[in-house]
Amino acid sequence: MSNKQLNDFMPGGNMTDNKKNFIGMDIEQIKQEMVMIGEKPFRAKQIYLWIYSKGAKSIDDMTDLSKSLREKLHRNYCVSRPYITNHQVSKDGTQKWLLKYKDGNEAEMVFIPEYDRGTLCVSSQVGCTLTCKFCHTGTQKLVRNLEISEITGQVIIARDMLEGWQLNGEKRKLTNIVFMGMGEPLYNTDNIISSLKILTDKNGIAISKRKITVSTSGVADQLERLGSETNASLAISLHAPDDETRTKIMPINKKYNLDILMDICRKYPEISNTNRITWEYVMLKGVNDTNEHAKLLAKLIKGIPSKVNLIPFNPWDNSPYECSEPEQIQNFAKILLKNKIPAPIRKTRGEDIMAACGQLKSESERIGKWQKK
Ligand code: SF4
Repeated sequence: MSNKQLNDFMPGGNMTDNKKNFIGMDIEQIKQEMVMIGEKPFRAKQIYLWIYSKGAKSIDDMTDLSKSLREKLHRNYCVSRPYITNHQVSKDGTQKWLLKYKDGNEAEMVFIPEYDRGTLCVSSQVGCTLTCKFCHTGTQKLVRNLEISEITGQVIIARDMLEGWQLNGEKRKLTNIVFMGMGEPLYNTDNIISSLKILTDKNGIAISKRKITVSTSGVADQLERLGSETNASLAISLHAPDDETRTKIMPINKKYNLDILMDICRKYPEISNTNRITWEYVMLKGVNDTNEHAKLLAKLIKGIPSKVNLIPFNPWDNSPYECSEPEQIQNFAKILLKNKIPAPIRKTRGEDIMAACGQLKSESERIGKWQKK
């Protein structure tokens, strides 16, 4: 699809609108809006279904509202999706979209199809403050948090593009969501929690809570709130089993060290063998990948229902690390398995379009520079 076609795809997405966007509002907020403009609150349910269940792209699509009401709504409201500025498809089927928001800022989202599911990796911020040393996204400065409309807007666009809204008995392609794109979700907790409520509402987008995973670098003081208010599945970017190594590669460990982090993770609600904590572990040659590290890791998470995702490092230009040897990654996995901890080695996806883990900055900046030429 050309960029021109992509841009034409966004009929509700007038980026210059100063109107209130229905996308990002929950049912109660839409009810309040209806009362404010002198309409009956039950209109909210109709509008809500159009937005989140039928995928309306414009107020004009809401054909069970009278023409006069649609005209009235047009004066104050819009149905505005983020603007797609680039779309790439990897040879392995992974897709990446670069999305532009109302103020011109951009963030990326990635769709990873697998035989039994399809996972959308969404962004929570433009840029990131956390400077994890192995992550290219972390070399881009934080610009701002994404709003609720911008977070839910990513999922809405993915549904538009991947499968449509009304299915004739076919299975949905988009089944899972992970907050693992750009940014630290728990530095944007309010908007993440509100977005999760919209995404999981059975009357709307209806993605199961268990199929949504929030991945954090370990903002321990927000974890309790995330667990109690959303029940989302939890992934922790751990990447090292001891404070010394972790602080070197993840500066956030100075603030929330492993004692603090482990203590709060042990209390995360509804953790069980069917709902394990996922520990993300990027394999960096000579840094965190020895047999000793694997044994320490098994000891650290002992007693917590866990799965460790071993991620072969995806290098970028001038990156300070190399990926561990395949044989050492296997050794590492075996030690964890011996300790009854599942440790799948993640297959790198979307590498040819820079959509793999931790690569999400460079392409948007590269395209940005190219577009400014
Ligand atoms: S790994 Fe996540 S938290 Fe760390 S710098 Fe990258 S985007 Fe930020």
